[in-house]
Amino acid sequence: MWGGRPRPPLLPLTFSLSEVTVTKIHGQKRRARAPAPHTHATPIGGNAYYSDSVPSSSQPVPDTRKRDVSLYQFFAPGGLLSRTHPAYEFRRGQLQMAQAVEQALEEKRHLIVEAGTGTGKTLAYLVPVIRSGKRVIISTGTKNLQEQLFLKDIPFLEQALFPGGEGKLKACYMKGRNNYLCRKKLYDLTDQPVLSGLEEIEHYRAIAAWEKVTNTGDRSELASLPEASALWHKIDARADTCLGQKCSAWDRCFITEMHRKAMESDIIIVNHHLFFADLSIKQQAEYAPDAGILPEAGAVIFDEAHELEDIAGSYFGVSVSNGRFEELCRDVEVSLQRNHMLSASLSGALKSVRERAMFFFALLPTGDGRFAFENRREFMEENGDEFLGLQQALTRLGSELENLSSKPEEVFNFARRAQELQVQLGFLMESEDRNTVFWIERRRGGRDKQNVFLQATPIDVAPILKACLFDKLECAVLTSATLAVGGSFEYMRRRLGLDYARESVLPSHFDYESQALFYAPPDLPDPRTPQFAAQAADRIRRLLEITRGRAFVLFTSYAQMNDVYTRLLGVLDFPMLLQGDAPKTALLEEFRLTPNAVLFATSSFWQGVDVQGEQLSCVIIDRLPFAVPSDPVVAARVKSIDADGGNAFFQYQVPAAVITLKQGFGRLIRSLHDRGLLVLLDNRILKKQYGKVFVESLPPYRRTTDLKQVEEFFGVE
Ligand code: SF4
Repeated sequence: MWGGRPRPPLLPLTFSLSEVTVTKIHGQKRRARAPAPHTHATPIGGNAYYSDSVPSSSQPVPDTRKRDVSLYQFFAPGGLLSRTHPAYEFRRGQLQMAQAVEQALEEKRHLIVEAGTGTGKTLAYLVPVIRSGKRVIISTGTKNLQEQLFLKDIPFLEQALFPGGEGKLKACYMKGRNNYLCRKKLYDLTDQPVLSGLEEIEHYRAIAAWEKVTNTGDRSELASLPEASALWHKIDARADTCLGQKCSAWDRCFITEMHRKAMESDIIIVNHHLFFADLSIKQQAEYAPDAGILPEAGAVIFDEAHELEDIAGSYFGVSVSNGRFEELCRDVEVSLQRNHMLSASLSGALKSVRERAMFFFALLPTGDGRFAFENRREFMEENGDEFLGLQQALTRLGSELENLSSKPEEVFNFARRAQELQVQLGFLMESEDRNTVFWIERRRGGRDKQNVFLQATPIDVAPILKACLFDKLECAVLTSATLAVGGSFEYMRRRLGLDYARESVLPSHFDYESQALFYAPPDLPDPRTPQFAAQAADRIRRLLEITRGRAFVLFTSYAQMNDVYTRLLGVLDFPMLLQGDAPKTALLEEFRLTPNAVLFATSSFWQGVDVQGEQLSCVIIDRLPFAVPSDPVVAARVKSIDADGGNAFFQYQVPAAVITLKQGFGRLIRSLHDRGLLVLLDNRILKKQYGKVFVESLPPYRRTTDLKQVEEFFGVE
């Protein structure tokens, strides 16, 4: 409960949707009452590490909270880590990173640090975070890393630091809010079930039974619920449908509980989507004290920080789809029917919004996938009346809703959603903002439906991140295995607006020269020519014979993947797995369990995939992974850099492709004992001047252009 203080905005002011959060709290008893935000909870069980209050970012850290063991004593040979970790190895880079993070936390500076695979970077930042006594948010790019931190690293440190169980780390793991059940929606559905089909009825029964016993409301507890459950989408806790404190289920709400847990935690683990959704809400609310879900923190650690630009861009943009109009109309209708308030004039207003939205979206330029909406002005000249008609239909719906007497709380929410759609649609169609690219995306929905999205994305997120993140935060640590290009962070810093930061590229723990051979064939045609696919398929076949399968073959496009896969089907003697034939986790599991398997995949397997051991002995990449130049956001960024007198190819396209290539190749060597072959079939890396930038940015693999050396590496006669 947050009684006795200013209320948070009733409804989050986000343009962007569905994020907010959290979850489990580790090693923490439940409290009957939540603390007021920005005051500090009394933890259960004090100890030398944790005093009775959680210091705010600006409070000095009492010395009593510092562990007396130094970083050296923790990480060095013979130290605490060596005595407690079964697979301990001294990693110089790990100690150096821990020292750099500790210094950044103490001196309140930003830090950017590239730490290759095998550095052990999660412990390298967790230990100084714990020693600092500050509340720290850790934001990751993937669920796997979130789970590793929460389920493995933090319990390990708790055990290592407090072997007698005398202390607990207060940590919580927060997910996007659409992972949680909205109790209010479920109860409304129970009162008046509006379910379509047997499948929804079955899902409803399972969710209703689970709601009675779950402590978290996190759908991951419901293993039987399919990922694509349509019912879940109707009853999840998304921000745009939340009634906030006026909700009748507020006291028992899983989101309220998650917020309370975050307030009590010292370490808050989130993902980048949640972090930036929260930041954009705070920005739009002009940093009102109660805006957003994440509490103030003394530092933020961004792991897998190479993903920040794209994710931040999506949350500081605007997106309006035909689906949002339909959802609003459906929610209004269901609610008013339930409350016996659906008058003829409201039905008419809803009908008008539906029809006009359908008509307006049908008029938008045709095209598949993502494409720029370049002729907005001409479009408005021709179709301005239809745009105005839709805006007026929204105004009418908003007024009808506001004029209802004795209306339930959710009706205010509907009126706000109608107004938000109006404002955002106006921005999308009329804004002349020079730092925004306007584009359209068509995605296939279920049952022959097509979802059309009108999008506006900042071309350059750097000024936004500088103003609302780096200038406001005492300490940000950005880390990843792939941040530097040619040993420099200039590209990453410029793209993210990180003007001042300490920098560090850590030495690798792996002996890349002996563990990996990098082969680029000098004789294949340019990958942009039609002859490439046939010859590439033939070379892949030859290479896989040498490696006896055990390979990822990674492509920059689905078309190329399908083409090469089809050419090799029936030709290869090894089990072939294809992305799309099964969910990603199932495919990976099959790959791990199938001797000599070969997996054909695209971008989603280039990162966040970890297969250790001989089962993965080769990674083949078809071509240098330049972003698709016709992509509207990429094209706008290129145009903007060139227009400002820069050279977009060298300042943006090459560095971005370097980071992606490093990620892709990073799948191969995952431990000190891994050994294998890296192949880039695109010999522009050898022939073009810019190829040098790629070569100089990769780890020091042994390199060859000679197939014989590949055979020797694998001991093939
Ligand atoms: S406050 Fe109410 S409406 Fe909002 S998520 Fe919680 S239960 Fe749902």
